[in-house]
Amino acid sequence: MIERDRLFIDGCWVEPAGRNRIEVIGPADGAPLARIPEGTTADVEAAVGAARRAFADWAATPVAERAAALRRIHAGLKARADEIGETISREMGMPLKLARRIQAGSPIAVFGYYAELLGAFPFEERAGHSLVVREPVGVVAAITPWNYPLHQISLKVAPALAAACTVVLKPSELAPLNAFILAEVAAAAGLPPGVFNLVTGYGPVVGEALASHREVDMVSFTGSTAAGRRVSELAAATIKRVALELGGKSAAIVLDDADLAAAVRGTLATCCVNCGQTCSAHTRLLVPEARYAEAAQLAATIANGYRPGDPLAEGTTLGPLVSARQRERVLGYMRKGIEEGAELLAGGPEPPAGLTAGWFVRPTVFGRVRPGSTLEQEEIFGPVLSIITYRDEDEAVTIANDTSYGLAGGVWSADLERAIRVARRLRTGQVDINGAPFNLQAPFGGCRQSGNGRELGRYGLEEYLEYKAIQLPPPAPQT
Ligand code: NAD
Repeated sequence: MIERDRLFIDGCWVEPAGRNRIEVIGPADGAPLARIPEGTTADVEAAVGAARRAFADWAATPVAERAAALRRIHAGLKARADEIGETISREMGMPLKLARRIQAGSPIAVFGYYAELLGAFPFEERAGHSLVVREPVGVVAAITPWNYPLHQISLKVAPALAAACTVVLKPSELAPLNAFILAEVAAAAGLPPGVFNLVTGYGPVVGEALASHREVDMVSFTGSTAAGRRVSELAAATIKRVALELGGKSAAIVLDDADLAAAVRGTLATCCVNCGQTCSAHTRLLVPEARYAEAAQLAATIANGYRPGDPLAEGTTLGPLVSARQRERVLGYMRKGIEEGAELLAGGPEPPAGLTAGWFVRPTVFGRVRPGSTLEQEEIFGPVLSIITYRDEDEAVTIANDTSYGLAGGVWSADLERAIRVARRLRTGQVDINGAPFNLQAPFGGCRQSGNGRELGRYGLEEYLEYKAIQLPPPAPQT
């Protein structure tokens, strides 16, 4: 049992104000894995106070010094990469090999990326007779989820520190252990006291206290649409800047000239990675009516080839869901799909063979899913793919756009120009063509109920900056 009994506030590991602890449960066996502090509003006060006091000096730190600090954090995380991968695999269930590559590899890359970007970023420019300077927003509250826990933390903390903001982080209570490692690394990297603070606890207490705090200038939130809405409401009282990265129901459109096998394989891979707990997962596969039978057969075969099991065991390709609650939700959607009359092509609500402990589900494919049905509209956050047929390109685009979300999507075609044309018509923050990979330099985020901010690339840094225009007087006339 891992015991974390302190919070990181003002450069020190301090006792939390309250005595309560949160138990972290291992999703692979349902057994207690760790205990962490259940933070309170008093802890939020202390952390926000420290961040506020640290702000002016950090904001005045030369860019090169901030870049050096980020480089030290990058190196510190890199030195602990194996531990980070294993910790996250244990706390949220991603198979170890993948967790090392994605859950540890990505945050390391993100800190490295922002350290480099700082060297080239234009913090000042001239606009007519004005000097336009870009200044840090101030004290940032970062509220993050459990599915790619340290990745999502790094998408906020790295650019916020790069911009010279100070930060109070509230990680997910379901997968918080990685955040303690980051705090240790930040402390060892010599960040001045108060620049980075960690307060663990529940959303309705710690998260809401941060979202409504007068001394927090910006809240950057990643999580469910419902909690994002609440954060926005609370933040409105003090007009703080709000960046939201929320849910999704992304569609992959397979055009009639596409390599169908590659499209089905690629789409199922994004749908099932991390046991379907990826906000940008392509969970709807849109195929031309004439190619449905082939797509259905391919998808079922691929889904049946996953090997659910212990995330730490060699050969496991699908870990458990994060919690019992999440499993109930996902099973509920599977039952709903059957009730709604979709064809169950693979998987289903019965537990995978031989996995009685832990929160395992079977990778599941539904065919002939009706546009507008619950299965087609709502984010499931489990390894559940819906195949939907369309008559023509216009109908495919209409179906893809017809949910309340707008996070991601895919287009598959042998004709790049055509694929780009369709991609332009999707109302989402990003579109992958023929399974093109994730890119740290490009903006990530959504529109409509998927949120309103952008992370990554220079766009992710700009989120944490304000503009100031300094109007310069005309030059004195020459005598
Ligand atoms: P969640 O909303 O339950 O929790 C996210 C974070 O918000 C946690 O730290 C939680 O403690 C906190 N929180 C909960 N209620 C709060 C409240 N009332 N006020 C302030 N904070 C509160 O979400 P989750 O279950 O951890 O994550 C899954 C969701 O996150 C999915 O909907 C997924 O699509 C979304 N997500 C989006 C992105 C993205 O970039 N768009 C990335 C990952 C996950």
